[in-house]
Amino acid sequence: MILNERELHEECGVFGVFNVHNASELTYYGLHALQHRGQEGAGMVVSDEERLLGIKNEGNVRFVFPESVLKKLSGQHSIGHVRYSTTGGGGLLNVQPFLFRHGSGDFALCHNGNIVNSRQLKTQLERSGTIFQSSSDSEILAHLIQKETRRDRLEAIKEALIYLEGAFAFLLLTKDTLYAMRDKHGLRPISIGQFNGGYVVASETCALDAVGATFVRDILPGEIVIINKEGIHSSSYSPDVQEKICAMEYIYFSRPDSDLSGINVHRARKACGRQLAKESHVEADIVIGVPDSSLSAASGYAEATGLSYELGLIKNKYSGRTFIEPSKELREKGVKMKLAPVRSVIANQRVILIDDSIVRGTTSMRIVSMLKEAGAKEVHVRIASPPIIAPCFYGVDTSTMDELISAQHSVESLRQLIGADSLAFLSMEGLTEALGHNKVCHACFTKKYPTHLYDDLAEANKDGKF
Ligand code: SF4
Repeated sequence: MILNERELHEECGVFGVFNVHNASELTYYGLHALQHRGQEGAGMVVSDEERLLGIKNEGNVRFVFPESVLKKLSGQHSIGHVRYSTTGGGGLLNVQPFLFRHGSGDFALCHNGNIVNSRQLKTQLERSGTIFQSSSDSEILAHLIQKETRRDRLEAIKEALIYLEGAFAFLLLTKDTLYAMRDKHGLRPISIGQFNGGYVVASETCALDAVGATFVRDILPGEIVIINKEGIHSSSYSPDVQEKICAMEYIYFSRPDSDLSGINVHRARKACGRQLAKESHVEADIVIGVPDSSLSAASGYAEATGLSYELGLIKNKYSGRTFIEPSKELREKGVKMKLAPVRSVIANQRVILIDDSIVRGTTSMRIVSMLKEAGAKEVHVRIASPPIIAPCFYGVDTSTMDELISAQHSVESLRQLIGADSLAFLSMEGLTEALGHNKVCHACFTKKYPTHLYDDLAEANKDGKF
């Protein structure tokens, strides 16, 4: 799928720095490298060991942190966040990090993922007198921690995490300690790097590379990493861990230059493309991919079949989300804002079009028709993941059940709907084979959710509300 028409949305990205001169500058570049994980809001909290100071706003990293703003954030420790809103909706109040002032010590908190029992926890907390500042479920952890003020901070965090069910990578900053924690299934990625004697923590390794940090390791499922003046320590909050990293991180979300659980995303996508060719090749002249996230799979498919891999679609990098959509009249005349076919490459060719996934089907429909208008003789659509038949409850906005086109149509009926000459998806076995391991969550393809789903979520899903 193309970036500006992302039918799937990641919830967020986090970036933390400990003991680095001018931490805010490093955080700025780290967040910039994670911008694909959320463009609706960005924020940062910095510590100079005396106090915590935060700035956040709606908009992308460059907009929220012009140089004049960045200069105000001086300190050697920091955490930052880029947000796409799902649970809790948009609005400045829900932009993170959240900064909490408390007699037991101030702290800031940010989060990637989604807590599936947030409603239950929130109701219980409210009943016991807690007042929430935002509608984001990330605030729940803060209140749970504060309930444990009699314990030391680490014990309070561990105690609080036990209550949370779902997907999370949390960063928590006090004036002198950075805590990084990952849910017991490791659904969302988070890794540690070293930088000039200090430490960096990021949702994706591409952000470690972007700032020139050296990768140390991934944070393990169920682990809490504590970084302070004494160095780096590890603790765990649950013995019951089972790695299930989100398969869509490999297929679609993460940047191709990131490594997830030691596997490079570009290579994983290429392997999916090769496997797809093994499973459902069809005679054709050229292979093209939908920019950007499908290009790796397309190159793998072409490599496996010996067909020529061509640049058949071009994405206009400057048509941001605020760009004015062309009027109906101009659209009918063929004005294309975001994606354009390369007519001289496509015309008179039998084209294999590789896309990473189909969510609502509208993008595929538009692209197939665009390629046919550009003179393609045949368009064979190959999807480098299994059909998405169930919603995600772990921080990915996969739409409601009734919007998921593969939940509503057979492959043949979907083929007719999008106007392709043929359509095939990668099998679930093929995905496992391509990734080389089965420690992934694949619930949106199989409905086998790795965590308990709470009654209200399951019910809402049945009614098509999720
Ligand atoms: S349900 Fe799908 S999108 Fe959600 S975490 Fe699992 S694999 Fe990822």
